[in-house]
Amino acid sequence: MKKRIVLLGSTGSIGTQSLEVIRAQGYEVLGLAAGSNDAVLLEQIEEFHPAAAALADEAACERLRAALAGRADAPRLLCGAQGIEELARMPGADIVLNAVVGIAGLGATLAALESGHDLALANKESLVTGGALVLEAARRTGARLLPVDSEHSAIFQCLQDAASAKRLEKILLTASGGPFFGMNREQLAGKTRADALKHPNWSMGAKITIDSATLMNKGLELIEAVWLFGLPPEKIQIVVQRQSIIHSMVQYADHSVIAQLGVPDMRIPIQYALTWPDRIPGPAPELDFTRLGPLTFDVADEETFRCLAACKKAIAKGGLAPCAANGANEEAVGLFLRDEIGFLEIGRLVEAVVESEAFGGSYSLAEVYECDRAARAFVRAQAKRR
Ligand code: NDP
Ligand code: MG
Repeated sequence: MKKRIVLLGSTGSIGTQSLEVIRAQGYEVLGLAAGSNDAVLLEQIEEFHPAAAALADEAACERLRAALAGRADAPRLLCGAQGIEELARMPGADIVLNAVVGIAGLGATLAALESGHDLALANKESLVTGGALVLEAARRTGARLLPVDSEHSAIFQCLQDAASAKRLEKILLTASGGPFFGMNREQLAGKTRADALKHPNWSMGAKITIDSATLMNKGLELIEAVWLFGLPPEKIQIVVQRQSIIHSMVQYADHSVIAQLGVPDMRIPIQYALTWPDRIPGPAPELDFTRLGPLTFDVADEETFRCLAACKKAIAKGGLAPCAANGANEEAVGLFLRDEIGFLEIGRLVEAVVESEAFGGSYSLAEVYECDRAARAFVRAQAKRR
């Protein structure tokens, strides 16, 4: 039977690669959603004919409504954040793929899981900000969380042997190191938006590309791994693997290490999240070992890359601390992309927010959003003062 998919964040880097997989496999697209890019969403609607579509931005949504007016096959159109969440709850979906960027994806993650839909999750920020609520929603309905992030997909793939999975001792979370690997703080101080947007191995959306340059991405992924695989942060070791060929590894009780390898192509983890536990031929090329040079391993420098240190502190504090770190980072990355703060300011601000409060304890969804708002306000106020 054809899989029916709801794809959120369809106009982005993961979204468009997901559509390549969907196109190659001939899956049915039940719903498509994005933020404000009505032009690209319209093209996608014309190709994939979803039953429903949504845009978070109200003005863009009205433009799309006008463009669709009078068309017999026009999808049901939903506007605003509520519209995205309604799409995530759409009856008849086999799986929801959440590729929205930032905490904006949290509501849809919860909506999908609460309605019992399996969730292919690229939006790591929903686990970082509201991990306890996300896991609780999945537990209540029995919906599955299938990782799309390449490292977490790799770990998930290495854990498929259920008997061994019980003996998981350690996760080796690989990192490319980003475009500024090996540089010191002096060299980093002058890095511009254009420098930071050049990633050596992956082509991704702007926010995660900056997160890769600051190593915030690895910090977010460490927190993501804690929630997905239930290991304490001390048992997750970050290993710099510059070539992005080994996508992560697991170590078992007997010290046997299992790794997952492949070309750096997100269509592999995206497709696996959609076909799990099956594997089928897909559009990604094979890894050619005859042309592959050496694979190198290094230690991540968290003295220089403070975002990684801040995320470690945040997960150790627990409660809303990771949410605060994430909110501070989203705001700081926005400021950096608008040339309003320097590269090193991102780490300083994220660390300052994490250190500003105790943060521990359980939380509600309203408290998550309040924490996010407060962290962003803190960053804006600090940035203005410098
Ligand atoms: P992009 O910036 O390329 O795309 C983001 C998508 O989210 C776009 O479709 C955008 O729509 C949509 N969006 C933005 N704001 C909202 C909103 N408020 N409500 C609904 N949709 C919104 O990001 P990426 O594809 O790079 O990343 C998406 C997620 O996947 C992130 O969480 C990232 O960390 C994660 N990820 C990405 C990887 C990659 O290779 N790119 C790898 C692993 C994880 P619009 O175009 O209209 O703005
Ligand atoms: Mg990743």
